[in-house]
Amino acid sequence: MSATSDLKLPLPREVFRSTGFVNEVRESQVKMAEICLGTMISSESAIVEAPTGTGKGLAYLVPAILYAKKTGQKVVVSTATTTLQDQLFHKDIPYLQKKLYENFGIEFKAALVKGRSHYLCRHRLETKLDVDPVSVPLPVLSWGRETTTGDVAEVQSETGLPGWSNVNADYAACSEQCEFHPRSGQDKLEGKCFFYQAKTTANEADVIVANHALVALSIIEGKHLPEYKVLVVDEAHQFEKYMISALTAEVSHRAIMSFIDKGREVLGFTDEVANELVSGFKGIVGTKPFSFTVDPKGTQAYDKFKKAVVAVGIAYEARKNNSKALDFGRFVETLSRLVDNIENKYSFTRVEWRPETKSGADFIPASIQSGPINVAYFLRTKLYPEIATIFTSATLSSTGNNFVYFKKMMGVEPKFEVSLPTPFDYPKQCLLYIPKGGHPVPSSVDKKLNDLYQEWFATQTIKLLDLSRGRAFVLFTSYAHMNSAFERIHKKTKYPCKKQGEASREFLVRWFTETPNSVLFATKTFWEGISIDGDDLSLVVIDKVPFKPESDPLMKAKADHYKISSMFDYIQLPEAIIDLKQGFGRLIRTRSDKGIVAILDPRIHNSNYGKRVISALPPVHLATSLDDKLFLKYLP
Ligand code: SF4
Repeated sequence: MSATSDLKLPLPREVFRSTGFVNEVRESQVKMAEICLGTMISSESAIVEAPTGTGKGLAYLVPAILYAKKTGQKVVVSTATTTLQDQLFHKDIPYLQKKLYENFGIEFKAALVKGRSHYLCRHRLETKLDVDPVSVPLPVLSWGRETTTGDVAEVQSETGLPGWSNVNADYAACSEQCEFHPRSGQDKLEGKCFFYQAKTTANEADVIVANHALVALSIIEGKHLPEYKVLVVDEAHQFEKYMISALTAEVSHRAIMSFIDKGREVLGFTDEVANELVSGFKGIVGTKPFSFTVDPKGTQAYDKFKKAVVAVGIAYEARKNNSKALDFGRFVETLSRLVDNIENKYSFTRVEWRPETKSGADFIPASIQSGPINVAYFLRTKLYPEIATIFTSATLSSTGNNFVYFKKMMGVEPKFEVSLPTPFDYPKQCLLYIPKGGHPVPSSVDKKLNDLYQEWFATQTIKLLDLSRGRAFVLFTSYAHMNSAFERIHKKTKYPCKKQGEASREFLVRWFTETPNSVLFATKTFWEGISIDGDDLSLVVIDKVPFKPESDPLMKAKADHYKISSMFDYIQLPEAIIDLKQGFGRLIRTRSDKGIVAILDPRIHNSNYGKRVISALPPVHLATSLDDKLFLKYLP
């Protein structure tokens, strides 16, 4: 792409005000676009909290396109959810391609890039069909021969796609020797590797839409995406989690045994190395079957383990051109990343025991995980000095409606930080219900008390469903409570109910919108990234303020690392509020939506933190009893 600095381009305000560009010019959308362009040009950072209804997609895409056309540099837009990715790539970008061309003669190219694992690997598919056809998921059999993109999102499956990991593109199983690899760079891409096809399209694009997982890897490893100068992180409240995950390695005893069983002959490492790998691992995880944090450095067991990991790496390097050896590349890489992480002083290492059925005399249901505590450190050294970064989301501020927590965790010192006003009339559109009185409260230590709470929760929810005539999301902080509530409620209500796990997320959302008066029970993955407009969704029930447990080891490690005196005030509460705002945000998606959010956690009224929680939510009327007459006013 050539630099185009002489090009005369309109300012964002002119774009949004041009004929027919948007139905209604929204000042906050224009303001956001101006902030984004200012941040891109000055190569600084910005935090923009843009509530639902701002139209933040267009507000950052317009300046992104103007910047890319003016400078010849690429802009990457990163999302956490595929829903937003699809919205940007299949709706907003085609819309902008049409409008910007019609109004200003501006043409631009865009590409959608996902992580390798989203693409079918033609080589693995062919190999599996030859030697182990039953390991290929059924829906992939016919689709795999017809698809032109290889993107797994094209496969419609009610139950997800077990076995996809047998045929997806995988870094460790990929080699330039592969017949589909576009080696020369001159090869036509047609009929070649799907992943490399997508990469080539990205090389030619002005704007690339990617996901947090891939962007996190690109920051850490400096590859996976073409060179870019601007990063827009939408759904930014999730970015830290993806950074941590990308940097974390996990190795289980089961995986080590399987690796030794199948890989020893192929890679040719010695019995001594195999024994050290196993005994080192066993020494680190110990024999007491509970999970704990650990710093194994300096122990005999760890030294053995580390030595064996180095030896396995050398064995792999020597044989990796052998196609059979490629199958073990991923595991060898994970082993060495685990050791690298344990060595890093900003790391957090944990032994995780999982209750599993014993299979074989030597089986230990434990794994070692190690990842960073301090993502801020990586971003400060690897991202901000090079890339103008804009963090945006509907929920970035926490207690006191400020960005202190977010800035600390991301290590960012932004040039701009702004919280845009909501375009919704919340007091008119939404009622918040938090019951007051001597109701049972949830308890993680007192089973009897918790049973009482769950029974009360079910009774309240059934009454709320009667008021709203179904049309509800019932959102939980745990699978256990979701399952028990579903059992207590679905037979007692006349409205059709489904719960997470019965089918894929896409199927459940489709079922919800196509089924009149339906009720969907779900956990954290449904608290965000789902947008149901109109009367189909009139009630959102939330079981509890989503506090992470005090025992959460990563949270404890963070508190130690940042020398935080009150873990509750500075970590638990801000994180819970950001999550709660996401769940709350499922209800009002447009200016005509109306309904009720019920948080069935009576502790809010009796606690010190209750006022801070309520004041962080949008300004709405509060009902404390089901007898409140306001209920009927908010139910369409
Ligand atoms: S180049 Fe790599 S990812 Fe692509 S088909 Fe070949 S092995 Fe699979």
